[in-house]
Amino acid sequence: MKNIDTYDFTGKKVIVRVDFNVPLNNNFEITDDTRIRAAIPTIQKIREGGGAVILMSHLGRPKTGPEDKFSLKHLIDDLSEKLGTEVLFADDCIGESAKQMAAQLKTGQVLLLENLRFYPEEKNGDAAFAEKLASLADVYMNDAFGTAHRAHASTAVIAQFFPNDKMFGYVMKNELASINKVLKEGKKPVTAVLGGAKVSGKIEIINSLLSKVDNIIIGGGMMFTFIKAMGGQIGNSLVEDDLIDTAKNAMKKAAEMNVTFYIPTDTVIADKFDNNANIQTCKAGEIPDGWLGLDIGPETINTFSDVIEKSATILWNGPMGVFELDNFAKGTIDIAKAIAHSTSKGAYSLVGGGDSVAAVNKYNLKDEVSYVSTGGGAMLESLEGKTLPGVAAIEG
Ligand code: AMP
Repeated sequence: MKNIDTYDFTGKKVIVRVDFNVPLNNNFEITDDTRIRAAIPTIQKIREGGGAVILMSHLGRPKTGPEDKFSLKHLIDDLSEKLGTEVLFADDCIGESAKQMAAQLKTGQVLLLENLRFYPEEKNGDAAFAEKLASLADVYMNDAFGTAHRAHASTAVIAQFFPNDKMFGYVMKNELASINKVLKEGKKPVTAVLGGAKVSGKIEIINSLLSKVDNIIIGGGMMFTFIKAMGGQIGNSLVEDDLIDTAKNAMKKAAEMNVTFYIPTDTVIADKFDNNANIQTCKAGEIPDGWLGLDIGPETINTFSDVIEKSATILWNGPMGVFELDNFAKGTIDIAKAIAHSTSKGAYSLVGGGDSVAAVNKYNLKDEVSYVSTGGGAMLESLEGKTLPGVAAIEG
């Protein structure tokens, strides 16, 4: 494996797997360019180092073959502007035209290939397809963390054709460094704050984190399975009865491993799943029938904030309540603020996976935490302790 910071790109053609899977509106305008902006330093580094860049990505979910609405051509203008150079476009990611355009590419030029997923071979991890992509370049770089948990042709299989010239781009490097900072090099005490709807999606994360953290804080809909497991009355709250034993086991294992489990002691309840419902606060294990818990309560916010303030490393995944509805957003907002405040005092904080990222963006706190991950599924699989195929292909 080579390093983007030290590699000599002079005269090299570098094929970079980027994650340009950005949302487009009906006029094919980019409504959130975060992923494109994230890739710019990597692209500029190669250009400034004397190389030429061939960019490949997927966009959306094309069914079979090309679909205009999923064409990467819609990104050309925006990308050209961001890079300060006219980006060339190949309307097929493999084949004669791509080959010719790649062959004629000069130092500093950037060529964008058409959507990889117009070929089913991409998701199938087809080796012949990967080899065709590989034939366009001298160097392979993976900078698409969002798809690093997939063993697709462009994210993993292609790496074998560049045994001595493969590396991560800056997005991948930063994502992996932030995960390591929490899971491998985390300064103690390390606290994981887990929320979201269900235990089912998080149990492997909990089990994997037990050997890596000092505290596990549980909020969100998943808390009620734990509260019921402890004998509490949860009214009509979200619960996964088939996971009660799993929740009990996780708490038992935590105690054995000296990990402190924090389960909410109070909750904001409503008589229906609606922002305009009747609302009360009650003890977490004493929810009357007909009522459901939709947020953590004030006492819990205090306890959780206190643990977060005393932590040196914080991982946050999943909202504390139904934050999409304003009346049940306070828990998520206050916990996000506690994480930001702890960060301002020197803690390292990583926000990763789906809705907690949406929450820090919504409350304008993304610059007040140490790192916000761009890859939902890839981040979750990393937290589960899995090796990502896109990472293994570069490191192997
Ligand atoms: P996840 O995708 O598992 O991270 O779950 C995120 C979703 O969990 C968000 O849409 C929240 O509205 C939802 N959620 C959080 N707390 C609760 C709760 N107490 N009851 C039901 N849903 C919740």
